Amino acid sequence: MDRPQSWEARAEEYSLYGFTDLPSVHRRGTVVLTHGEGPYVVDVNGRRYLDANSGLWNMVAGFDHKGLAEAAKAQYDRFPGYHAFFGRMSDQTVMLSEKLVEISPFARGKVFYTNSGSEANDTMVKMLWFLHASEGDPARRKILTRWNAYHGVTAVSASMTGKPYNEVFGLPLPGFIHLTCPHYWRHGEAGESEEQFTARLARELEETIRREGADTIAGFFAEPVMGAGGVIPPSRGYFQAVLPILRRHGIPMISDEVICGFGRTGQTWGCETYDFMPDAIISSKNLTAGLFPMGAVILGPDLADRLQAAIEEIEEFPHGFTASGHPVGCAIALKAIDVVMNEGLADNVRRLAPRMEAGLRAIMERSDHIGELRGIGFMWALEAVKDKPTKTPFDGSLSVSERIANTCTDLGLICRPLGQSIVLCPPFILTEAQMEEMLEKLELALNRVFAEVA
Ligand SMILES: *Cc1c(COP(=O)(O)O)cnc(C)c1O
Repeated sequence: MDRPQSWEARAEEYSLYGFTDLPSVHRRGTVVLTHGEGPYVVDVNGRRYLDANSGLWNMVAGFDHKGLAEAAKAQYDRFPGYHAFFGRMSDQTVMLSEKLVEISPFARGKVFYTNSGSEANDTMVKMLWFLHASEGDPARRKILTRWNAYHGVTAVSASMTGKPYNEVFGLPLPGFIHLTCPHYWRHGEAGESEEQFTARLARELEETIRREGADTIAGFFAEPVMGAGGVIPPSRGYFQAVLPILRRHGIPMISDEVICGFGRTGQTWGCETYDFMPDAIISSKNLTAGLFPMGAVILGPDLADRLQAAIEEIEEFPHGFTASGHPVGCAIALKAIDVVMNEGLADNVRRLAPRMEAGLRAIMERSDHIGELRGIGFMWALEAVKDKPTKTPFDGSLSVSERIANTCTDLGLICRPLGQSIVLCPPFILTEAQMEEMLEKLELALNRVFAEVA
């Protein structure tokens, strides 16, 4: 057989790509990477890119953190793999659960492990279905989320995700209800204040619960800041408005902190930044600083107690993944938490976030085609518009955000196109000089592309 020769050709010949704009790949080839240095990644041709997306939001300690790699190696030497079934689990798993509850916003709680964020959301839905049925509410099965939310790709978590692309799979499944995305700049009506917008969304929630029947709803899931929806912080007072409604109707509130968790918003949890107390937290991505596939459901006291009681009744919770609570993943997570919280990474986010915001705001003010800057901490998005005053988007066929991201790549900067936005969520180790490099290259790319399309 004739094998293709180049890395790019070999990649295209044998790999099926997910979440990849194929016309861009066909035209430009695949970037095949070999290693990383701090926040940079290096390709097979020796080109360096500042990865302003931390891989996929998760490589918060960069791409060559010695301590993390050593923690992994040490655990591979000590006990390289085990499960958490049949009353056995590794010591690392015990320690990580203890740690996660300790740093959670909960006074008490319990942790359950998965291999990904999708599976953690899936697991949480199964927990809620099981719990409600066990408590005599078997009809409580519907799940509330928001349009533009991203909760994952398994059949259930994709149904929770509020993106039109899931139509190709015939999703969402029945019983997954999407509420309005709390993006005031885009969805606020003419003359509506941000407070009125938030109040309207709260009324929508109340009306949805009345229409569907509170006794048919299993839970409400929300990201504190929507990540893959395009970095959308909640409208002012959003969680303070929706939480009392959920509580009144006995609907658990789950905070999907897969992106926000462990310092991305400037505090350990997004729910701390936005000052609300969920009933459970979903974690992944940053949990292992991207070094191991791992997710976790962290239950607060109320759900932990109720679920424990329900499981005692049937004697066994029939759920779990072969690699749930993997000792190497747990050892890495323990080290990652220590690195983020105690080695200055979280502090660095808090220190440099104002510079990031100011730099991006200045870029927006100098441009005729950036309609909105939104974000917090180390997660921001710039939204491209054809016309600023009317917020009119560019024609979709121009693929403006893809062009911006591709131009950035040519300049040695990786950032992500999302809808008409460009997303920047750099590793927490970014230095001030690297922040300036990111801002400079981004503005150069924006100017080049806007000169072509405007
Ligand atoms: C990435 C993400 C997920 C899914 O995590 P995977 O590990 O990719 O399955 C779920 N929720 C949020 C908020 C995410 O950003």
